[in-house]
Amino acid sequence: MNVINVAIDGPSGAGKSTIAKAAAAALGLTYVDTGAMYRTLGLAAFERGVDMDDGEALSVLLSEIEMKIEYIGGTQHIYIGDRDVSADIRRPEISMAASRVSAHPQVRTALVAFQRELAKRQSVVMDGRDICMHVLPDADVKIYLTASVDDRAKRRVEQLREMGTEADFDQVRADIEKRDYNDMHRETSPLCQAPDAHLIDTTGFTLEQGMDAVISYIKEKAHVL
Ligand code: C5P
Repeated sequence: MNVINVAIDGPSGAGKSTIAKAAAAALGLTYVDTGAMYRTLGLAAFERGVDMDDGEALSVLLSEIEMKIEYIGGTQHIYIGDRDVSADIRRPEISMAASRVSAHPQVRTALVAFQRELAKRQSVVMDGRDICMHVLPDADVKIYLTASVDDRAKRRVEQLREMGTEADFDQVRADIEKRDYNDMHRETSPLCQAPDAHLIDTTGFTLEQGMDAVISYIKEKAHVL
């Protein structure tokens, strides 16, 4: 079987997951949300009171929690043991926890190995922060998806509202800026646009326009699809 890998990086709230998921569905590929893995470890650390500055303790926690991924009707579900935590990991405090735990090289090494394994076995659209440069440097298609901080904050507030949570725009915007800073300035695999990644800026785009831009680029690049 000819495996095709599409790598999408970008900052928080750029619409990566929604767009990557739609692109995967349209092209018949599996969507792998790597942020969910860092979020799941962040959730476990948050709930169990594990120090998020202690990389060793986090790596022990990761080996203990039996993180599992399953695909149900094309949607990625993530588990701690038998507990489906796919909804819990979206809470705003868990976004920050994910950003903190993801800074540790021990955590990244383990999760990157898991992500590469997933991409070896099947054709994927994988999104995250370090996919183009580090996880899948030989990906067939590489995209850097971004948008202005204001647009990203607006979309995140909307997303949280749809999930039943009212959030304050200024707070969400400040959180996004803080996460951008953490993700772009950490020592291990900081977020940046890979030199060979195609830039798609969705500022002012509707979701449909963002999806169209991404799907057409993937089709153009990977003629086999
Ligand atoms: O993409 P999402 O916002 O769900 O990711 C949550 C956090 O996980 C990010 O802020 C980032 O710190 C971390 N992350 C990462 N590398 C990835 C995916 C996510 O460091 N490949």
